Amino acid sequence: MSPLEALQARLRRCRTCPKMIGPVVHGPPVRSKVYLVGQAPGDKEGPLGRPFAWTAGKTLFRWFHQALGVDEETVRTKVYFAAVARCFPGKAPKGGDRKPDELESKQCSRWMKAEVALLAPTLVLPVGAMAIERVLGHTGPLKEVVGRQFQTTFFGAQVEVIPLPHPSGASTWHITEPGKTLLISALELMRRNPTLVSVFQTQRSLSRW
Ligand code: SF4
Repeated sequence: MSPLEALQARLRRCRTCPKMIGPVVHGPPVRSKVYLVGQAPGDKEGPLGRPFAWTAGKTLFRWFHQALGVDEETVRTKVYFAAVARCFPGKAPKGGDRKPDELESKQCSRWMKAEVALLAPTLVLPVGAMAIERVLGHTGPLKEVVGRQFQTTFFGAQVEVIPLPHPSGASTWHITEPGKTLLISALELMRRNPTLVSVFQTQRSLSRW
């Protein structure tokens, strides 16, 4: 068993957060320089056993296809999928999924720290406001960061960061302005990013947008 597989085996046994609903969800043990950070799995991801397995995933993988011409299975085998929390937080009283609370996010960050130590990623793709806050510490509007590229230190690794909005159907941010235009800028940054280009060995023009 590789160190990454051993880490994921320990992750699967984690029961630290009493309000979280298992199982722990994670992607395959991909040794990738691209580290994607989502918010938390929804209720469908646990039974299906993989992150972004439902409607938000369809949109996310469409963005990858638009930016780099790659399909879902290729993305899943080339990108490491992490999240602020790895278990389903349950439903919020007012509808939608509950957001992981501060303690849960903090407790779950030890898995990120351990993964980053093993993978030494050079590019991080935080998806949605919670992941962006976790990676960049940014708590302001999405329009201030989506469509831009950043350099930061992430659990000791020097990384480039390309923030993405959350692809959830519950959010209209990415289909209304200025989000729509800023998303295209973010996908263009992905298309030109050397780490992504080398991981996928391909480039695709956004000219058909
Ligand atoms: S959310 Fe993270 S820290 Fe909490 S139980 Fe799940 S895997 Fe463990």
